[in-house]
Amino acid sequence: MSTSSTLSFTVTERTDRASEADRAAVLANPGFGQRFTDHMVLATWRKGEGWGDARVTAYGPLQLEPSAAVLHYAQEIFEGMKAYRHADGSVWTFRPEANAARFARSAHRLALPAMEEADFLGSLRALVETDIDWVPDATTGESSLYLRPFMFASEAFLGVRPANEVTYCLIASPAGSYFASGLKPVSLWISEHYSRAGVGGTGAAKCGGNYAASLAAQIEAAEHGCDQSVFLDSLEQKYIEELGGMNVFLVYRDGRLVTPELSGSILEGVTRSSILELAKDLDLEPEERRISLEEWRAGAESGEITEAFACGTAAVVTPVGRLVWNGGEVRTGPQGEGGEVATKIREALLDIQTGRTEDTRGWLT
Ligand code: PMP
Repeated sequence: MSTSSTLSFTVTERTDRASEADRAAVLANPGFGQRFTDHMVLATWRKGEGWGDARVTAYGPLQLEPSAAVLHYAQEIFEGMKAYRHADGSVWTFRPEANAARFARSAHRLALPAMEEADFLGSLRALVETDIDWVPDATTGESSLYLRPFMFASEAFLGVRPANEVTYCLIASPAGSYFASGLKPVSLWISEHYSRAGVGGTGAAKCGGNYAASLAAQIEAAEHGCDQSVFLDSLEQKYIEELGGMNVFLVYRDGRLVTPELSGSILEGVTRSSILELAKDLDLEPEERRISLEEWRAGAESGEITEAFACGTAAVVTPVGRLVWNGGEVRTGPQGEGGEVATKIREALLDIQTGRTEDTRGWLT
């Protein structure tokens, strides 16, 4: 932590929305993003005043004027990370400083106010401490508490300019294991009509608009029997970028582990950078560079590319079984189960996150 928190996230309203029995039932089978903990964090920024009014309060609806700028011009950013309860009962987050840094970069791109790293981390700590009973046990089934910080233009004003009033909010939701029955490979649809982001745009920021822009491609993927879309660069429609909510890696027979370089329109995933660091320990040779769609297709066909996987906080590692496009498809890894490398990387990450292995890199807070 570089500086101490300037905001004090004190509890202003305590509540037990959920009974103990209700909470136990949710934690036994959390799903994803449907149930929220008893509390949330709020803070308000005003131009000329800075951040203030920081508090932990009962989870519930926000009051927003219909003219609130975010509803019209989408000046909004968010983050996503998880807290894990280890076997000894202690609760840990994974590299939250990386999320704080990305939140700051996103804020800059969306002309939103900066939030100090210490305040961002302080808000996480305040909510996790208040709702600690909502953190599931990570040692069985990899469950966690998903943390969702976000910031949006709450000023009631229809002019197009950076808002003079901004709200910061943090909510939390118990999350179960993404793959209850092991690693199930997904099929990817190559989106040729739609781009997720463009040169000079907001692709590298974690802002709601990017996700809105990915949904039509998601529908197209489903119409072609695929689980997700993979986006290409918007200039040449030639190079692989990422999925709507995950980064991509290809595994080569000779041990190279290749991921698209940060182009300015790709989100820099915390999972992605952690995998790049872990790769060397796993006898893999990490590489960040441009990967053309043609290279992926040809490599999968020849067998030079033995596996492909997507990665992100929600599912950790998701193997890709098929790559599908208008007029063809190719198998791009084992079918029905995850490949050896994807499984190994997933286990290595989860071992650190859930406390099964010593955290030698200082990634847990
Ligand atoms: N790309 C996009 C577009 C995403 O939304 C996410 C999820 N945050 C990722 C990549 C993976 O990032 P992370 O590993 O930090 O979850």
